[in-house]
Amino acid sequence: MRQFDLVGIGMTSQRTRDRLVRRLRERGITSANVLGAMGSVPRHIFIDEALAHRAYEDNSLPIGHGQTISQPFVVALMTQTLLNVPRARVLEVGTGSGYQTAVLASLQGDVKRIFSVERLAVLIERAEERLRALRFRNVRFRHGDGYQGWIEEGPFDGILVTAAPLEVPEALLDQLTVGGRMVVPVGGGDVQELKVYDRTSSGVRVETVEYVRFVPLVKGTR
Ligand code: SAH
Repeated sequence: MRQFDLVGIGMTSQRTRDRLVRRLRERGITSANVLGAMGSVPRHIFIDEALAHRAYEDNSLPIGHGQTISQPFVVALMTQTLLNVPRARVLEVGTGSGYQTAVLASLQGDVKRIFSVERLAVLIERAEERLRALRFRNVRFRHGDGYQGWIEEGPFDGILVTAAPLEVPEALLDQLTVGGRMVVPVGGGDVQELKVYDRTSSGVRVETVEYVRFVPLVKGTR
């Protein structure tokens, strides 16, 4: 198993993370629980060593295979938006580096279990190793096509999609509980709309909360 540097030194120290948290607060993240999670997850271990010194800048960064680790502000915003109320069971589509997964997994109390699906086998293996090294035990991973969700484990109180489909997959809406919420970037351009879908007893309500940049949600697995 790969060894991860879990010791905070230099750029990876708690003080550097605290600075990131201050910046997130300035940009409008208000949830103490989300800010706490952003301050505790060591983002540098989700990034290749060559770029690790940039881990606590508020930017997305390449993680190989044409994919990126999301920008901290966007991770915080999506997490805060998902957690307007506690969400016991959460489905994440697009594990990538596993960073967003780790943020969700640190919100004990607000989130109990996380189910994370990724289409690229190489990425999900590494994400799984990292979360094991960080001793998170409330996450299950699946190598699969997130367009299908995770039927056997559904329905979910929350669904967080971290890659952009052209249209919201019906299969995902079908796996939301009544009262459940999905946060998803939608669209095919350079910039997508970050949308919130709330399933109520009378149907689905949708709202756009922000404009974001994500890689596309791609069908099939590799
Ligand atoms: N949340 C991640 C960022 C993910 S980038 C992080 O914090 O690192 C988007 C990820 O979605 C990529 O890893 C990509 O491979 C994955 N992806 C794209 N299409 C997918 C699909 N249909 N099902 C599951 N994952 C998919």
